[in-house]
Amino acid sequence: MRKELEIAGIRVGCGQKVQTYVRVPDTDLCFPCTFINGKEDGKIILASAGIHGCEYPGVMAVMELGREIDPEHVSGAIILIHEVNMSSFLKRQPYVMAADEERKNLNRIFPTDGSGTLADRLCCFLSEEFIPGIDFHVDLHSGDMVEELEGCVIVANTPDEEQKASLIEIAKHTRFHLRMNSGGRREFYNSSAIHYGKPALLFERGHSGYCRRADVDDDKADLLSVMSCLGILPGEPEENPDQVFFWRHEWTQAQEGDNGILLPFVKLGDEIQEGQKLFEIRDMFGELIRTVHAKHDGHVFIISHTLSVTEGDDLIAYGQV
Ligand SMILES: [Zn+2]
Repeated sequence: MRKELEIAGIRVGCGQKVQTYVRVPDTDLCFPCTFINGKEDGKIILASAGIHGCEYPGVMAVMELGREIDPEHVSGAIILIHEVNMSSFLKRQPYVMAADEERKNLNRIFPTDGSGTLADRLCCFLSEEFIPGIDFHVDLHSGDMVEELEGCVIVANTPDEEQKASLIEIAKHTRFHLRMNSGGRREFYNSSAIHYGKPALLFERGHSGYCRRADVDDDKADLLSVMSCLGILPGEPEENPDQVFFWRHEWTQAQEGDNGILLPFVKLGDEIQEGQKLFEIRDMFGELIRTVHAKHDGHVFIISHTLSVTEGDDLIAYGQV
């Protein structure tokens, strides 16, 4: 018999489901969550959506699963954060947190002790209240409103090789065609793995501000698959025979002085070669500022589609199978 679940100040009895907003103490910030406590013992998974407020399929997937999953079938517990970054969701603000004084990108500031701005307090609360009590974390993202993307599953940059191997096994049981290992450190899921020792995956699916039914269904299926792999839900998911692994990948950002017009010379899904021209960056009179070239061969899986560009903007990501 499983005992009561207590996470982030919310108490959930055995075999119960609670749907509520969770408030970050001493702020006006709150976000919608579902807590499902099973009847039998087992692992606890956190699935969080909306670190970037306008990456939609994961938000719908989590919201629908929160309604559909019956605690009767759960061994362990399921915690769903439907939308972390509510101010950006409501204001239609890509990348950054609309309510934050410095409009920080939440996925660049983990871990944080909470001193600083509102964004730091939110991220500190997420880490300290949600992560210590869980066994597994999935963070759901998409290409943001200003970029196109091919879906991929990313394995957290865990320092534990055994944990990484089991994460890869679970990732292979998702519908994603592309899989890669993260080299990051300051994202929510990487911080869960690096600073709290919790296995974590990131899902990237959907793009450009769309919330397509097929992407929502795939996110739901893959979350259910991960939960089955962990024994939280019944079922035996099958390995995806079509999944490929990027052994290296490059994420290119705009550099200092890259302020003006972004002209692409490649598109999503292109196979590119080392040295190939990817973009021209021109000023507002059309004069060339800089040309961006590929650092290695690869397959383009993310590309920005805005005409404007500013220093620090994400431009393109490509990986090599
Ligand atoms: Zn994102």
